[in-house]
Amino acid sequence: MSRVLVPLQLDGAAPVLGARLHCLEGVTMGTTWQVRWVALPGTASGERVREAVQAELDTVVEQMSTWLRGSDVDRFNGAAAGTRHAVREPMADVLQAALWMADVSGGAFNPAAGALVNLWGFGPAPRYTDAGFAPPDHDAVRFAIAHLDWRALKWDAASRTIEQPGGVLLDFSAIAKGHAVDRVALRLARFGLVHALVEVGGELRGQGLRPDGQPWWVDLEWPPTAPGVAPMRPTRLALHGLSVATSGDYRRTYTHGDTAFAHTIDPRHGRPVSHGLASVSVVHAECLWADAWSTALTVLGCEQGLALAREHGVAALFVQREPDGRLSETLTPAMEKLAG
Ligand code: AMP
Ligand code: MG
Repeated sequence: MSRVLVPLQLDGAAPVLGARLHCLEGVTMGTTWQVRWVALPGTASGERVREAVQAELDTVVEQMSTWLRGSDVDRFNGAAAGTRHAVREPMADVLQAALWMADVSGGAFNPAAGALVNLWGFGPAPRYTDAGFAPPDHDAVRFAIAHLDWRALKWDAASRTIEQPGGVLLDFSAIAKGHAVDRVALRLARFGLVHALVEVGGELRGQGLRPDGQPWWVDLEWPPTAPGVAPMRPTRLALHGLSVATSGDYRRTYTHGDTAFAHTIDPRHGRPVSHGLASVSVVHAECLWADAWSTALTVLGCEQGLALAREHGVAALFVQREPDGRLSETLTPAMEKLAG
């Protein structure tokens, strides 16, 4: 039987029954975006919405993409040791959130882990898809681990500046997409478009209601199962004043020899996670936090991750790969509440 997750509170906006539903899509951050909204009389035209959405996404890319030469983060990563750098909005917000997540997760989530991400072939260079690419050896990993202390950035919230301690590579890929979703949703709301569903690369945020009075229903994303293994229980989520993000070991991965390497790296020992956690979905009011938490909990694994999520009241659903190939799930108490 399928399961339904619903918000504990209504966000207050009355439905606009029978109104027209609009949809736009495009590409950003190496993936796709999609926006649906309910048009109200006198609100922005589709063209203005497209321009506004693209502008929000472009701002995030221009500041926070490690893949774009000359982005703010790219310039910081190439800067000399001991230099201090002004951080613009919205990167300052994302950085502050990422540093908090690093602190509470004991460095399992680490925005300064870019050198490790690159080393394992998941950054701009080298890429695991390059001919002749091989996973790094022990010494290279040890060297990278010596350059990922997020505290050495000496973030100063008052002046919004950080220091390049030397060789630290920032990587916001685990949190920036979620923030981009929030920015787009808030921009739509400023246009008076309070009934909308925003998606960037599988991270979603919904506000208000569809024109049929229903919330924006989405299906939770499940890891693929091996042939003959029972699929996970279908789960529908009412995205009404809520966001959802999923991190998983199956999303970007490669095999070398007999070993599979996932794109989520545990910065504490410098290797891709390999604890059998197939995916973590997090539901949160803000997509930035859903995104950050889902990555952090994926690194921590089921046991440590569940303990931290419980402590912080995070609504999370863990999917564990059992030795016999079956998938088993665990919900935090906050997620159980959404399940009613
Ligand atoms: P996500 O899909 O949101 O879980 O983000 C995965 C991406 O975040 C990876 O492709 C890396 O660029 C980056 N990343 C990998 N491991 C970590 C980590 N432990 N902390 C922060 N970012 C990470
Ligand atoms: Mg994430």
